[in-house]
Amino acid sequence: MVDLQGQYAHIKEEIDAAVGKVLAEAHYINGPEVQVFAEDLARYAGARHAVTCANGTDALHLALRALDLRPGDEVITVPFTFVSTLEVIAILGLKPVLVDVRPDTFNMDVDQLVQAITPRTKAILPVHLFGQCADMERILAVARHRNLFVIEDACQALGAEVTFSDGSVHQAGTMGDIGCTSFFPTKNLGCFGDGGAALTNSDELAAAMRSIASHGMSQKYYYDHIGINSRLDTLQAAVLSVKLRHLTDYIHARQRAARLYDEALADCPGVVTPAKTSYSTHTYHQYTLRVAPEHRDNLRQQLAGAGIPTMVYYPLPLHLQAAYRNLGYHEGDFPFSETLSKEVLSLPMHTELTPDQIQYITEQVRV
Ligand SMILES: *Cc1c(COP(=O)(O)O)cnc(C)c1O
Repeated sequence: MVDLQGQYAHIKEEIDAAVGKVLAEAHYINGPEVQVFAEDLARYAGARHAVTCANGTDALHLALRALDLRPGDEVITVPFTFVSTLEVIAILGLKPVLVDVRPDTFNMDVDQLVQAITPRTKAILPVHLFGQCADMERILAVARHRNLFVIEDACQALGAEVTFSDGSVHQAGTMGDIGCTSFFPTKNLGCFGDGGAALTNSDELAAAMRSIASHGMSQKYYYDHIGINSRLDTLQAAVLSVKLRHLTDYIHARQRAARLYDEALADCPGVVTPAKTSYSTHTYHQYTLRVAPEHRDNLRQQLAGAGIPTMVYYPLPLHLQAAYRNLGYHEGDFPFSETLSKEVLSLPMHTELTPDQIQYITEQVRV
């Protein structure tokens, strides 16, 4: 599915130098590279602040904590996403309210979002699934009208750009109050372990997240809030500053691979290639087909037999997971999420895919 060894081989000298410097300095926690990377990332994304932390899940946690919500306050998100999105809402004692995704974009259906708002709704948490942004202009308009916070789960979409109707262009994670991203090794910008960050243009929210990530500390050994310990390691920050310089090329490589897949599979019966919206670029964290449910698992096996890995993101929507039964949702509540979980099939997608590999893969899909 990915080729992290091949990617490392191309930038080995730069990475080894950066890692070697950290090892020589031995400033493993909060070393200067962490601040440097935070500034690099904020500049890249066009955000005022980047608050680095231990992983993308913690970035979502910090974001929700910084909004200072009350137990039972409602946060609207989608059931067709990675579990973290819902998990952080639940773990903070907030009430997750789910709305279905659109079957074409896999992202939040804004009409259903509007229907789901109640007097207790405090925040909207859209996910930019598979690397393409949700309809942020409409989501932000709804949020402004109803006075709600917006937290973007941009863990799969760092580098994606949305064009608003006034022509302005905005990066994933910089449109809402806070945008969260992950540096899990397979993400668009991956480190060599775990890492995450929250982007914001608000000085207050950035300060709150920095404090919460550092045990709720105001000054050394004085604590204003109950916090957590969530840090990006110096080594990971050093790796990320190097890889960030290549992120634009990495995204272009994914987009080139996607174009070849699109062309080769355009008229392939029984297979629907990923939809592209007019408003967002697609960074192809995943290249995800829709296959008729009765054929999906056969195709998967057939590809495995030809040496081609595939993945199903995600096989069971979150409202049907055992852990979230207490939310009170049932089968049939979110038909598009449920159908997609039976139809989706992600093909290998990474920065090192060659046209020959894509030709082989698509020939096998067409068999
Ligand atoms: C990866 C991911 C996360 C969590 O990131 P971690 O760094 O693994 O904690 C959250 N949401 C989505 C949509 C993700 O893909």
